[in-house]
Amino acid sequence: MVYWYLFRIQGALDKKIRLPGRIPGTKVRIERGVDEMIKDNLESIQKKALQQIREAKQLDALNEVRVNILGKKGELTAVLKGMKDVAEADRPKVGAFVNETRDAIEKSLEDAKRRLEEAALNERLKAETIDVTLPSKKMGLGHRHPNTIALEELERIFIGMGYGVAEGPEVEKVYYNFEALNIPDGYPAKDEQDTFYINGDILLRTQTSGTQVHEMEKGRLPIKMISPGRVFRSDEVDATHSPSFHQVEGLVIDKGISFSDLKGTLEVFARELFGEDTKVKFRPHHFPFTEPSAEMDVSCFKCKGKGCRFCKGEGWIEILGCGMVHPHVLEMSGIDPKEYTGFAFGIGLERIALLKYEIDDMRLLYENDIRFLSQF
Ligand SMILES: [Zn+2]
Repeated sequence: MVYWYLFRIQGALDKKIRLPGRIPGTKVRIERGVDEMIKDNLESIQKKALQQIREAKQLDALNEVRVNILGKKGELTAVLKGMKDVAEADRPKVGAFVNETRDAIEKSLEDAKRRLEEAALNERLKAETIDVTLPSKKMGLGHRHPNTIALEELERIFIGMGYGVAEGPEVEKVYYNFEALNIPDGYPAKDEQDTFYINGDILLRTQTSGTQVHEMEKGRLPIKMISPGRVFRSDEVDATHSPSFHQVEGLVIDKGISFSDLKGTLEVFARELFGEDTKVKFRPHHFPFTEPSAEMDVSCFKCKGKGCRFCKGEGWIEILGCGMVHPHVLEMSGIDPKEYTGFAFGIGLERIALLKYEIDDMRLLYENDIRFLSQF
């Protein structure tokens, strides 16, 4: 090393010196050639590095060696920086020494790294034992929602009676949601407090009846359809209310359709859904889009009409609203009410699901807790 530093002084004094001689102005004599001195230095760096690499027991220690020798401030890097002091004619030779040294150290580092990684893996394999006889984890596949199951049941029943299924837009023109259904201005449902308006002409539909208007406007008669879908009302969230829920509406239009067709159809539907011995009863009601209008109750399928907690002691459970399509509604959609008549009904899908599966809180239907859903 002494020679090396002496040479550095010398190099600073005279870049061209490359042969042994005396440093000008001093008594210090350089005994050997520059290339030999650098070679010695490189050999000592390499020896030290290989020794340290052999002794490294951890990858961290190995990395430390790499930084100390090959890093930005490493010893070998310092030699490379000193190349500027080496006479030009010696540079290729010295460069080759440096490269050889670096290659040897890098190879040794690589080998040691592989050796240490292998040892670490073996250590881990020894420590971790896998019990291949353990039962495997069960993958949850999810579960169909009670709404979906109820809807498929409803669709099955009506398709069986020759109905088609039509779907309409959830974002609807105010006209299709209200005017075309004979709902006058000032009707409570039209109020901004009950309806989500997007602007003066567009809203989130409050009922699926708009789909029926779209079907009537197509002018393809007779019509026999149900329209299931999501509807929106600006409601509180509680056990029986939600701002978003689902309806299944039905519409039949043909020549000579009467209220008895309505009653017969819905009676068949109720028996299919709740059991053969289900009784139905119609109570007069009012809807702007039907005349006459009614609400249909079914006999409580739990107590068979005797009265229980489920039907609040009434023996009857309210199921749906229905009626004969109002002549104005037919007229507005271009159907001649003198020639055609029809009936319509609307069922709350959640209500059916709650009843059928004896769920007492509607909010459970929207939480999508798999522990809840997988019970149905
Ligand atoms: Zn009951």
